[in-house]
Amino acid sequence: MDCSRCRAHPAYYTRRYSGESLCPGCFVGSVVEKVGRTVADRRMLRRGQRVGVAVSGGKDSLSLLKVLHDLGGYDLVALTVDEGVEGYRDEAIEHVKTVCGGLGVDLVLVSYRELFGFSLDQALDWEDEREVSSCSMCGVFRRRAIDEAAARAKVDVVATAHNLDDHVQTFMMNLLHGDVDRLAWLDPSGGGDGIPVRRVKPFTEVYEEEVALYALLSKIPFQGTSCPYMHEGLRSEVRDYLNELEARHPGVKNVLLSSALKVTSRMSSAVRDDPAGKGAVPCEKCGKPSSRGLCGVCRMTQLVLEHAKVLKAQG
Ligand SMILES: [Zn+2]
Ligand SMILES: [Zn+2]
Repeated sequence: MDCSRCRAHPAYYTRRYSGESLCPGCFVGSVVEKVGRTVADRRMLRRGQRVGVAVSGGKDSLSLLKVLHDLGGYDLVALTVDEGVEGYRDEAIEHVKTVCGGLGVDLVLVSYRELFGFSLDQALDWEDEREVSSCSMCGVFRRRAIDEAAARAKVDVVATAHNLDDHVQTFMMNLLHGDVDRLAWLDPSGGGDGIPVRRVKPFTEVYEEEVALYALLSKIPFQGTSCPYMHEGLRSEVRDYLNELEARHPGVKNVLLSSALKVTSRMSSAVRDDPAGKGAVPCEKCGKPSSRGLCGVCRMTQLVLEHAKVLKAQG
């Protein structure tokens, strides 16, 4: 079968929800095109802006860097966080350096140790049972670290590599956890009070499977193993369930995304119009925007210093 776009090369991949069969070249081009439409239609990025791309060294973030580079017209800089995970993070950082070097993109690298005084390994080594999951703890620190890197790189906007699957999984997770208010903040074009730099998600309309294929066909070197601390629990069941639905009903994830975006848009205007809605206040300790007395980072740091073995021993 020939490629449904160019009709010149054999088809390599069939996009089941649209019925198109594409050759490698047309597939790669279609992903870049789609992201170009997403960033334009959703007003995520403007030409000439300095865009910080949060790059972990996995397939999604390195692909995002390459797609934005290929779209052209942006002043790109990679923002990378070294969480400090012995035997894991170094490989990813090497891939980031290789790809940045190849594309001619500058890299701003920050580490937990430098910003918070401890590595993730140290922070997670508790004497007692930990009541916070490794991912939620790391997430709090990583968001702040990206903000710091963005400030150093003087970017106008930060782009993160969350794809369509990530978005619909998070939507479902919020429903399953009863965190309905959080749905108001799932806007892929960013916004919201108290956020130092706007964050956008240019891969919101691209299936995870297609990002992976894009990375493979573009010969992007990336770290294939996941973080040793990753513990997904319910999320991986939600992922499997959505993938099973998609296999039986191609396109169902696209429909769920568009429903999720509508819910978020209605909820966020309700939050904006609510006169009782509380805005951000400065954190009592570090002065960064916070929803209450201490910000998430300062609260989490306090917990770490009280419980982590090495750090507690150091006093
Ligand atoms: Zn083709
Ligand atoms: Zn604080």
